[in-house]
Amino acid sequence: MHVIITTAAMQAARRSLNGTTGVVLTMGYLHEGHLSLARRARAENDIVIATIFVNPAQFGPREDLAAYPRDLPRDLSLLEGVGVDIVFAPESPAEIYPDGYQTWIDLSDLPTKLEGAARPGHYRGVATVVAKLFNLTRPTRAYFGQKDAQQCVVIRRMVQDLNFDLDVVVCPTVREANGLAMSSRNTYLTPDERSRAAVIYRALSAAQAAYGQGERSAAVLRRLILDILATEPIVQTEYVSIADANTLDEIEAAIAAPALVSMVARVGKARLIDNVILA
Ligand code: AMP
Repeated sequence: MHVIITTAAMQAARRSLNGTTGVVLTMGYLHEGHLSLARRARAENDIVIATIFVNPAQFGPREDLAAYPRDLPRDLSLLEGVGVDIVFAPESPAEIYPDGYQTWIDLSDLPTKLEGAARPGHYRGVATVVAKLFNLTRPTRAYFGQKDAQQCVVIRRMVQDLNFDLDVVVCPTVREANGLAMSSRNTYLTPDERSRAAVIYRALSAAQAAYGQGERSAAVLRRLILDILATEPIVQTEYVSIADANTLDEIEAAIAAPALVSMVARVGKARLIDNVILA
C-alpha cells in the first residue's frame, strides 16, 4: 500500500494508473462503515484509493474540528487489511487549501434543507473537497455511505451538474449490534450513552414498520418517532424529517415513496445523525 501526503504526488501517481479505479473518501478514525465501502470498492475495481482528510471547510466555527478523533497509523493498517492500494492523506489542510485559495462549489437548493439548514456552509465545504478529491483521484466509481443521506444526494447532483465522469455508489449503513449507526463521533459517547442511543434506530425502524403496514401519514409517522425517542430523555432530538428522497422537500401530508426519514439527536457530547428510506 502506497501512502501519499501531497497533492503533487497524488496527481503524479494517478497519471501512472491504468484500469478502473474506486475511491473511498473519509475523515479517518475508521470503523466497519468505512471498511464496508473500501471492500466494495476492492471487489469492483482494479485499483482502490482511500483518502483521509479532516476537512476544515465543512466544520462550522462552533463544531468539533479540533476534537475530531484521529489515528492515522491505525487507519492505515485497517485500509491495508482490506486491500487498498493507495491512501491519500494530505499532510496538512494547506495541501488542499493553500494560501490564496478561493474556489468554492455552492449548490443552490439542496444545502438549504435538513443538515444544510442546521449546519450553514457544511455542504459548500463537502462539495468543494469532494470535487477536489475527484480531480486528484479521477475515479471510475466513488463509494459513499447511506448514513450521510443528504451528502449522497448533494454529491449525485454535483456529479451530474459538473459532468464528473464517474459513478456514485451508495452503500448501506453499517450498524452496531444494538442498531446504532457506526460513526467516528460515537467515540464521544460513554458506554451508557451508547446503549441508550440505540433508541434512534428503534424509532426509525418503528416508522419503517408502520409504513410497511400501510401507514402513509407523515404526521403520524413523525409522532411515532418522537414518542419513542422521548422514552430516552438523554437523547435530545434536534429534528425529525420525512422528506422526498430526491428533492429533500419536507412531506406534510401523504407519503409517496421513496421518502427519506432522517433525524439528528444530541447525546452527551455527540451530535448523531441517522436515517431510513421508506420505499
Ligand atoms: P466520514 O469519515 O464520516 O466522512 O465518512 C466517510 C464515508 O463513510 C462517507 O461516505 C460516509 O457516509 C461513510 N460512512 C460513515 N459511517 C458509515 C456507516 N455507519 N455505514 C456506512 N457508511 C458510513
